[in-house]
Amino acid sequence: MATYTYRCGADGPVDVRRPIGTAPETIDCPACGGPSARMITAPMLGLADRGRMAVLDRTEASRFEPPVVSSIPTEPRTRGRRPDPRTARLPRP
Ligand SMILES: [Zn+2]
Repeated sequence: MATYTYRCGADGPVDVRRPIGTAPETIDCPACGGPSARMITAPMLGLADRGRMAVLDRTEASRFEPPVVSSIPTEPRTRGRRPDPRTARLPRP
């Protein structure tokens, strides 16, 4: 989903969420029903949390550029943590 901005002559900017690529050039204003033309606005990339965007970028990149490793990944450290009771009775390799 993406947020598209339209401008109503009476009500000003109107934000509408639609699937990407499905925004028409004009819509009826949700407030007054008048025609509202689509506005081209800058994407709000600067408002995103850096950590969250880094995770999203890594996840997206893993679809096409999986990380290359030179050895088998080791087990995560479990010292100091109790084993998950949901998997405690499962057979171990
Ligand atoms: Zn309006």
